[in-house]
Order: sequence, then structure tokens, then C-alpha cells
Amino acid sequence: MSSYRKDTIAEIAKAPTAPAMPAAPVNVDYYGEDVFNANAMKVYLPKDVCKKLLATIEQGAPLDPSIAGEVAHAMKKWAMDRGATHFTHWFQPLTGSTAEKHDSFLEPEGCNAIMVFSGKNLIVGEPDASSFPNGGIRSTFEARGYTAWDPTSPAFIKRHGNGATLCIPTAFASYTGEALDKKTPLLRSLQALSKSTERLMACFKAGKKKTTVTLGAEQEYFLIDKRFYLQRPDLYQAGRTLFGATPAKHQQMDDHYFGSIPSRILNFMNEVEMELWKLGIPAKTRHNEVAPAQFELAPMFEEVNLACDHNMQVMEVLRNVADKNGLVCLLHEKPFAGVNGSGKHNNWSVSYGNGNLLNPGSNPHENAVFLTTLCAVIYAVDSHSDLLRMTTAGAGNDHRLGANEAPPAIVSMYLGDQLMDVIEQLEQGAPKSSKQAGAMKLGSDSLPPLPRDATDRNRTSTFAFTGNKFEFRAPGSSQSCSEPNVVLNTIVAEAFDMIAEQLEKLDDKNFHSGLQKVLQKIVKEHKRVIFNGNGYTDEWIAEAERRGLPNIRTSLEALKALKKEENIALFEKYGVMNRREMESRYDVNVEDYHKRVHIEGEVARDMAKNIIMPKVVEAYSAALKTNEMALNQGFPGVDSYVKSLGEGYKNLTAAIANIETALAEGVDIVKAMADARKVVDALEKIVPDEMWPLPKYREMMFIY
Ligand code: ADP
Ligand code: MG
Repeated sequence: MSSYRKDTIAEIAKAPTAPAMPAAPVNVDYYGEDVFNANAMKVYLPKDVCKKLLATIEQGAPLDPSIAGEVAHAMKKWAMDRGATHFTHWFQPLTGSTAEKHDSFLEPEGCNAIMVFSGKNLIVGEPDASSFPNGGIRSTFEARGYTAWDPTSPAFIKRHGNGATLCIPTAFASYTGEALDKKTPLLRSLQALSKSTERLMACFKAGKKKTTVTLGAEQEYFLIDKRFYLQRPDLYQAGRTLFGATPAKHQQMDDHYFGSIPSRILNFMNEVEMELWKLGIPAKTRHNEVAPAQFELAPMFEEVNLACDHNMQVMEVLRNVADKNGLVCLLHEKPFAGVNGSGKHNNWSVSYGNGNLLNPGSNPHENAVFLTTLCAVIYAVDSHSDLLRMTTAGAGNDHRLGANEAPPAIVSMYLGDQLMDVIEQLEQGAPKSSKQAGAMKLGSDSLPPLPRDATDRNRTSTFAFTGNKFEFRAPGSSQSCSEPNVVLNTIVAEAFDMIAEQLEKLDDKNFHSGLQKVLQKIVKEHKRVIFNGNGYTDEWIAEAERRGLPNIRTSLEALKALKKEENIALFEKYGVMNRREMESRYDVNVEDYHKRVHIEGEVARDMAKNIIMPKVVEAYSAALKTNEMALNQGFPGVDSYVKSLGEGYKNLTAAIANIETALAEGVDIVKAMADARKVVDALEKIVPDEMWPLPKYREMMFIY
């Protein structure tokens, strides 16, 4: 075995799997200690300023600019008490990751220095933004971009060994006010949905309340030992393995999912959760996922803008803590072929005041607000499935959607038996009853009967109703949560308006019969999007086609939704994005896709050429020599072995040439890589194990 592969395995075998440390007594006093939250504000801000700031945060009141100076001063004091010397506006450019440019508080004064942070420093920043993707919104001569404080997402401290930095969540826009980031459209979509929700709720005489969109983002990820990672250029350059034969045992035993968590991983998870809790991020659930070495972290749901920021922080904490533990966290949608990829399940709901509009209550058929909201979502998803599909586009997610493990590229909704029954009654006329969930008997007298969930789970659906929220399962593990929620908020805003417009014409007497007709019409026209069966089957693909549901297989096709006139009109109507902003996003995403694929192509070619080929040649020539010697001495030759290596050598030469051509012409790179992969993976099974130059799947996914 190549010596570094062997050394890595030996080192892992020797390493203690758990630190010899007794469990500490548990308290969570530190929850939120690194966040400038209401607790910190109360300590550091004068009472009246604190009140004004909290009103902005909690009720969405416009920020009083005269308090900025005092808030900045308090924030600096708070941050310095926690060891911070620097601050940064923290934002989310169209690269899909986060950006930060640190400035120190330091200001020299003669021979000495003081620490300064002004109201202006807090409210607006002007990073040199010329190198962020913008899809042509800024020409280089007006390359300025501005960051603007988002007071609704609290500032936080990022610690790093011997210091700390104050991070201020901001939106990022051009001089002309066009969004250059992921946060701005999200904030605009929230305003749009708030307005429509208020309008709809007025029809139900619900009074003026605050609309809150909630998001719980389940994050899937892989962990492997860092020493293996460093031996795989495909992983550290492209985020996924471009070669690697399927091991004998992978996920076919279903023994990893929810299995007992290995101790090294559990230590990692504990550390992640402690870091997140300090940041006020409510990490709640952890478990083994389906593929070997795959895991999940789910926080409690929160207001969507905050939850989106928090998910960006979650991904960063996962990566950093992994690194500290000698592991690498892979957030790519498909790091390993042949086993499950990783998603980011987007659990979405909307509340008005304290009431979740998607809470069916115990008698959904009597719950007019719930049924109206449900029908609005059905209308929205069926009318705009192209937009939802667009939000999941990306070079990584292409390897996942539609494979037999992730929801297909067809957008469909799962409602479950009980709601389906209510919807069918609605279609016929007035719903009169709700199938009762009842109790589930477990067949042993010593076990209590369990209340049965009215909705079952359907892991194969793209968009599933799960009790009191919808779970959009197609987004990829590395993607920002922003886009799916921008689209959901906007299309549901439109649906609410469409319904409100009809309800507003009704008087009290005929309100309920009129509402019923409106909902009945929606069900009749849009129930084609509802599918409660198994979404992984070929029958469903055929059935979806009969129903006229789009099946948008590739990212490049999906992104075209950003250029459709009707979609531009929708986003412009709701003030979420204008034509230029949508076109720029199209350009940025298409470019991102091509760049990623091109990088992968180059990595695949290089690895095939100067890592794998030399070993194949070595094995081949050794085999030729052995064969010749054996035959000379009258022993049986090893001609079939020689032949298989020779064939492999020939195929590999052709595969490399094929990638070269694809790269030069810029077409069919994905296919050329997949073809090369078949050749290399076949060789992996022939070339002597000790000579194989790359850590194998059976090692990376099983030894840690
Ligand atoms: P599962 O994997 O079974 O779907 P999890 O517990 O892993 O469930 O994740 C469910 C997610 O949905 C959690 O983040 C949870 O907080 C979130 N959630 C629950 N209720 C709501 C809601 N009303 N709005 C948004 N998200 C919600
Ligand atoms: Mg889960």
C-alpha cells in the first residue's frame, strides 16, 4: 500500500478516540454569550436607546438614525470586553459564501492609541467590492458596493485562538441600490409577504398583527479524517471525489442511519453545539445519516432572516471545529458517488401574531384560515414550480437531484392521507369531517398507546407537509437558505393577494360559501401538483409528465426561470428583485456553474495523468516483466492480468484525451469526467492495492 495511505491508517488506529476527560457538570449559562442580544443591550445601552433598538428588531419599526452612535459605542465596549480588537461588516455576496473585511477599532493619538467605533462605522461600510460577482450590475468605473447594517440580525463575536472580531450582519448593494447579495431580496420578500398576509387576514377579521416567516434548516454533511482529505486533490480542489470505486460495503445494510454515533464524531458534535449555543444558535438535533460518514444537524426553527444567517454560521462552525479535530467537514452535495448526497431541508411556515397559519388544529376541515393557507401554498407551488426548482440549481446539486436518494427534479407536494381527504372533500363541496389520527397500538400491554401523527412521513417528496410546516427537500447542503425562501415568500404573497382580492368582494353573509368556492377552484386547478406516492419511481416520472408537471433535469435549464418574462414581472410587482437583479443572478449562477465544472475537469485530467497513470504504467510494466520471466522459465504466464492492465492503460489514455478535448471545446465536460471515472474505478480494482495512490472509499468513509 502506498506508504502515506498506510501511515494514515496506522495513525488513526493508534489515536485515542475520546479524550480522557470526565463529563463536566452541565449548564447553558453561556447560551448567546457571543451575541449582542437583548440581554447584552440591556447591560450596555442607556434605557431609552435600548427600547428604540428593540422596537426596530421586534416590531420592524424603522431605525432611528440618531441612536446609531450610542449603539456603536455600546457594541464596541461589549465586544472589547470579549477580547475583540476588530470589527467587520459580515455579508453574503453572490458567491454563496460569507464575506468579511476586518478593520481594527484602533486609532492612533500621538504616541498612543485609542479604540474607536462610530455610528457611521456601524451603519454603512464600503468594502472594495470590485471582485465580487455581480453579473454586470456594476461596471468597473463605479465598482463601489455598500454594506448596510441589518439590525434585525444581532451582531456577534467570532473568536479565533488569541483574539476576536465583532461581526455585524449587513446587506450588500450597489451605489444605485441594486442588491448584490442574498440577504437584500430576502428582506424585501419578507416585506411583501407581510403586506399580503395582513391583507388576507383582514378578510378573516384577524386584526393587525406581525407576520413572521419561520425556517428550520436541517443541515446534512460528511466528515472524514483530514489526513485522507489531504491525499485527495479532487476533494480539496473541487469538494467532491472525481474518482473512487464503490466499496463492497457502503450503505446497503442501512446500518448507519440513526446508528450509535462514533465517539470521535460525538466529541466533534458536542464541540460544534457548544460553539453554536454561544452564538445563540439553537442547535437541537444530531444524528447519523444514511451514507457512511454522513451526519445531520438541525436547529430549532427561527425567524427566517436570522435562520438564514445562522445557517451560514453553522456551516462555518462545522468546518472550523472539524479542522480542530483533525477532520474535514464536506458540505458538497455529492462528495461520494454511489451513496447518498447531502441536502438542506428547508422547513418553512408563516405565523400571524402567535398563530402558525399552517397549524391544522384538531379539526382541519373546520379551520378556514389553515385551509386557505394550505390552498394558497398549493396554488403557489403549482404555478411557480420552475422558480422553486431554480433555487436548487448548482453544479453540485445536479449530482443529487433525481438520483434515487434525493427528491426528483420534479416539484410535487405531499399532503398525507388526512389532508388529502380534506382536500378531496373540498373539491366536492364543503369538507365535513377530518380523518382522525387516533391512537396507535404497539402490540404489547406494557407499552402505552401512542398518539398517531395525522401526517405520515414521505422522504421521496420534494415539498412535503409535515404537521405544521412545509419541508422543501431539494435544496443542496452547501447552498444558502436565502433563495428558496425568497421564492416561497414571494409566490405565497402572490397567492394570498389573489385569494384576498376575491374575498374582499364578499359580504359577511356569503363569506364562508364564497371562500369555499375560491378554495374549491384552487384545488380543481392545481391538485395535479399533489402526489402522495413514491417519488423515486419511474412510474411517477411518467405520471408527472401526463399531468404536465415540468421535469427540469439540469441546473442550466433550471436557471432559465430567472429570465422568464412572467417571473420578472412577478418579482418586480412585489419589489423583491428587478429585471437587472434577476438577469445578474442568472449570469452569476451560469458562470459559477461553468467555472466549477471546468475546475473539476482540470482536476480530473491532472489526477488521471500524473497521479493515476504513473501507477498504472508501473503495474503494467511489472506485470509484463513477470510474464516474460515466467514464460522463459516454462511457468504459466500472467497474460490475463497483463491484458487487463494493458486495456486499462489504453482506456485511460483515451479518457484523458477525451477530457482534454472537452475542456478545450467547453462542452460535455461532465460526461468526459464520468467516462474517465469508469475507467479509473475499474483500474482501482485491478492495480495492486499497495500501489494505488489515492485513499479508497472504504477507507475514507469507514476509518475515522
Ligand atoms: P425531520 O428530519 O423528521 O424532518 P427534524 O427534527 O430533523 O425533522 O427537523 C425539523 C425542523 O423543522 C426543525 O428545524 C424544526 O425546528 C423545524 N420546524 C418545526 N416547526 C416549524 C415551523 N412552524 N416553521 C418552520 N420550521 C419548523
Ligand atoms: Mg431530520
